[in-house]
Amino acid sequence: MPEVSHTEETEKGEYREGFSIQEISDDLFSRMKVGNTYKADCIVPREDLRYLLVLHKDKDGNTHQGEMVVHKLIAEDVPEIFEKLYDADYPIERMVLPDNYMADDEVMMRDNNSSCFNFRFISHTNRISKHGLGMAVDINTLYNPYHKIVTNDDGTKEEVIEPATGKDYLDREQNFDYKIEKGDLCYNLFIEKGFEWGGNWTDRKDFQHFELPTDVTEKYSQMYAGE
Ligand SMILES: [Zn+2]
Repeated sequence: MPEVSHTEETEKGEYREGFSIQEISDDLFSRMKVGNTYKADCIVPREDLRYLLVLHKDKDGNTHQGEMVVHKLIAEDVPEIFEKLYDADYPIERMVLPDNYMADDEVMMRDNNSSCFNFRFISHTNRISKHGLGMAVDINTLYNPYHKIVTNDDGTKEEVIEPATGKDYLDREQNFDYKIEKGDLCYNLFIEKGFEWGGNWTDRKDFQHFELPTDVTEKYSQMYAGE
């Protein structure tokens, strides 16, 4: 068993193997522009984002090198969380940048990918979404879907499930791999760092989603918009 250590930087400026926090390199920046997470209208400065490398294990115990782009505000907290999850064998199946999916959320969620930064404004506003700020993290997305009942103008109701293939996992009484539950290790670690969980919402459920509180994110959103 490897000795447990921390992501804190050593005197030599090195981190535990498999874990690091880096600025956005030129190569990575090109990849993010081509892959569409850093869209043409992105107003979050490249300098405010960080590239994380972390290790994670799938449900069979295989170790994978994960990668994630996050806002610098959470660039130390997030790898600390993943380090603890890794050491506890908490299963996370896949963690690559949304750019591998051309930033297509539905495709990425069906593949059970875990990710954070993907620039977008909230529809019909000049406010940046929490994923657009790199201040929301989605974990094991296929097994922890988003669910909302939408009432249409004509009064009919419509069920929105994202990804659509996650329907079987809306019954949270069932037991299945990769399920996030209130009080489990993943939940507790994110909550300890000040995140809120979409599984606690009442008007909709977003079981994969952890985000910073709105008072924090709005401050950044307004700053970047020059308001
Ligand atoms: Zn999310």
